[in-house]
Amino acid sequence: MIQFKMLSDLLGDRFTTDIFERQFYAGDLAPLPKIFSLFFKSTPDAITRPINTKEVSEIMKFAYSNRIPVTPRAAGSSGIYSCVPTMGGIVIDIKSLDYKIEIDKNANKVVVHAGVVWKDLEHELNKKGLSLMAYPSSAPSSTVGGWLSSPGCGIGTLKYGRVYGQVLSIEVVLPNGEIMKVSKDEERFNWFLGSDGTTGIITEVELMIRKIPEALSAHLLKIDDQETLCKVLQDVAKLKPFYLSYSDQIYTKMLKEAGKESHTDSKYMTFVVFDGSKKEVTESVNKLENIVTNNSVKEAPRQIAMDEWEDNLHFYPMRIKRAGPTLLAGDILIPLKNISVAIEKLKKLGIEFGIEGTVPLHDYTVLMPMYLTDERKFLEFVFSLRHVKSMNDIAISVGGMPYGVGMWNLPFASRIIDTKEKRRIKKQLDPKNIMNPDKHTHAVSLMPRIILNPLIFSAAMLAAGIVAIPMKIAGIIKN
Ligand SMILES: Cc1cc2nc3c(=O)[nH]c(=O)nc-3n(C[C@H](O)[C@H](O)[C@H](O)COP(=O)(O)OP(=O)(O)OC[C@H]3O[C@@H](n4cnc5c(N)ncnc54)[C@H](O)[C@@H]3O)c2cc1C
Repeated sequence: MIQFKMLSDLLGDRFTTDIFERQFYAGDLAPLPKIFSLFFKSTPDAITRPINTKEVSEIMKFAYSNRIPVTPRAAGSSGIYSCVPTMGGIVIDIKSLDYKIEIDKNANKVVVHAGVVWKDLEHELNKKGLSLMAYPSSAPSSTVGGWLSSPGCGIGTLKYGRVYGQVLSIEVVLPNGEIMKVSKDEERFNWFLGSDGTTGIITEVELMIRKIPEALSAHLLKIDDQETLCKVLQDVAKLKPFYLSYSDQIYTKMLKEAGKESHTDSKYMTFVVFDGSKKEVTESVNKLENIVTNNSVKEAPRQIAMDEWEDNLHFYPMRIKRAGPTLLAGDILIPLKNISVAIEKLKKLGIEFGIEGTVPLHDYTVLMPMYLTDERKFLEFVFSLRHVKSMNDIAISVGGMPYGVGMWNLPFASRIIDTKEKRRIKKQLDPKNIMNPDKHTHAVSLMPRIILNPLIFSAAMLAAGIVAIPMKIAGIIKN
């Protein structure tokens, strides 16, 4: 039995071991069959809600000296189990660290607590005529620290580059409780960004910002075939718009079921948003018009596109869960030029999936094939999970990779990150392996080590695929 008296003295009612509260931290956005709770201790032993760096440091010192696993969790909007414990221990709820937003208008920068939600930060900046250079599509709920611990592609990154490049410095609490400020020109800066919270806890971030752009122009393009979609996306990406996304008719149907009417009737829709100076935007729009003409593509009335941007169409994937009962989605990074090949391969999986994708880098797209299942039907749900692995395999087969590691993509980790180098850093910073164990580079506890071993994982998924065939024929499962 762990003695938490020190933490309850430190944090008062911002510390709890109440089971009702703890169970909310035992999962993330991706639903899982209950049977998985037999494999991991995903319910933490205690929840802490620090409000400043000093408190985070004290919690870490306590955990480090007692060898207690610590999982940082912010909004929990990632679906790869990256913020879910596997060995119980302490969860540090980063969302309580959201007091500081210090804007330096003259220097175009802001110092912000890691728990601040991106959309709230943008709102505060807008009040002063300023704006973020990038934010994730999950901005209505996800936090500054959460996105910096993820792969860092999103809205604005096609124009300005991955968000990591906009960070001037970070304050981190190391696993042993030491507080460290690291600026972008130091080598160790990269030890913490995109690390799934396995090397330390980001508490504060100094971020470059920009003035609200003088002009903005939104465009909805209607496209009727895959090849043209692929060509148009590559051409438009070269113009470096602030936002570029695409979706298909099934996704549009899901949106409709989630309560969002669509204005397009074509097979694919592409959403393009330019911003910048009036001159810059006018030039980009002229070039877009050429692309539209050269590819015989239709454009929806511009006012509709503008209304969709103002109505936050780019945040709608957050709401599509409502189309349920249960939504599962792949999240794969693939070379832009191979979208068409990837879609063809996905079709061969034989499931009805909707496509939503963004182009956050000039030569790569993040594709989210989404499909509906029903977690209330045990077999149906368990067997439908194998398609996520198939989607990752498809990404790799076309020169891409799963987007992010977390825990579920550990079998693919060596395809996504430099695992050897990351393990070296991990060993140096966290020799007791207490920081978010079983994530990012390797599994440490027994069951994840077995289940997520690449060979065992592949064999299990292959077996599931074989067993699924007669079950589908017999009508026991749908997908
Ligand atoms: C609809 C939708 C759209 C999305 N769009 C994007 C997108 O555009 N780009 C993208 O990259 N992802 C996207 N995601 C995935 C996810 O939302 C992002 O990764 C998100 O930024 C995570 O932030 P969070 O606050 O929810 O962090 P969490 O999910 O709570 O945590 C994510 C990881 O970061 C760690 N962590 C959290 N805070 C800290 C901290 N302060 N210090 C150290 N480690 C920490 C956690 O342990 C975990 O490993 C999307 C998800 C959804 C559902």
